[in-house]
Amino acid sequence: MKKSSSIGISSDTEILCKKLGLEYEESDRDLNRAVEKCLRDIEGAYSTIGITDSGELFAFRDSIGIKPLSVGYSQDKDVIAISSESIGLDINDLNYFHSDVEPGELVIVSDEGVSRKRIVQLDRKALCSFEFAYFARPDSILNGASEYVYKIRQKFGRNLGKTCLQKGNSVKPDVIIPLPESANDAGYGFHEETKIPLEAALRRHRYVTDRAFITTKKDRSAILDKKINVVKSMISGKKIALIDDSIVRGDMTTNVVKKIRDAGVKAIHIYITFPKIISPCPYGIDMATFGELIGAKHDPSEIATIIGADSVQYQSFDDFIKAIGLKETELCLACITGNYSTPLAQRIVDEKRRQYKESVEEIGRIYE
Ligand code: SF4
Repeated sequence: MKKSSSIGISSDTEILCKKLGLEYEESDRDLNRAVEKCLRDIEGAYSTIGITDSGELFAFRDSIGIKPLSVGYSQDKDVIAISSESIGLDINDLNYFHSDVEPGELVIVSDEGVSRKRIVQLDRKALCSFEFAYFARPDSILNGASEYVYKIRQKFGRNLGKTCLQKGNSVKPDVIIPLPESANDAGYGFHEETKIPLEAALRRHRYVTDRAFITTKKDRSAILDKKINVVKSMISGKKIALIDDSIVRGDMTTNVVKKIRDAGVKAIHIYITFPKIISPCPYGIDMATFGELIGAKHDPSEIATIIGADSVQYQSFDDFIKAIGLKETELCLACITGNYSTPLAQRIVDEKRRQYKESVEEIGRIYE
């Protein structure tokens, strides 16, 4: 780690590295003190892994643990590994004695062994809840949750299935189709609950890996065309329950709905596992501005009309939390509630919201 005060590019990783290097030098190369300074001074999401010039491997997680980080060992405890998700340990057979790096914890691995210390301990934790709907690998376990992510997604689907079966609901789909791959497990849960046939009528091109929701509108549409193909014979003439993880801007879903309509279906009812997104993410997920977020200005029936579906049903907030199995105070839910776990983020987003309401032109994402 080198001391340097100038910042050359707009990468948040560079800012964190420079701050850490600066504090390391100023604390006479005391990693504990340097990391503590970073944890106390830098607000935001960072799960960090590094190596000092004397060969110590270290890892730490921001003080409220917005993004996951795991530690695991080989069976003989000779090898220790750190991974952003438990799956990184599993596939390398390093998942013995697995545990999460706690929020505000510093792990140091050196010739003397492993030291672990919770340097900053706040009452609040705030693991990104969107991990459970979209980001995390389904075969990971996050933050001490008792179950694999795929099991939680199945519960999301079961919850939505119960909503579909509710008395008085006139929506009666003939077939369930999940959007691959993040909604596959929820689709299965929906099928288990409702016994409606599940069909893999949307096929994903396995070599197109671009993530459509973090690029431009034109590119998003082109990516989707390449990425998703509809098997018409499976759904033509039927009423569809389309299961997806989220609606951010709505243009992706509009494109999917159009593709499905072109297959000659009778109706499209959309079920979304992540509750309605109403506020942007300032913690590093490029999730649109207020003006772009369809859920910030429209209710589900308006959203259905805009995207060309017959109905849109979101999983309820309470069902979502219950299915995850963590307390509300252990999760970041800011993009669903508008309540941010860190004061600077709240201030910036509130100001953006005020500007949006007053029709001040939005000049970019919050981090810009
Ligand atoms: S605001 Fe939403 S996407 Fe961002 S960290 Fe919180 S839950 Fe995750």
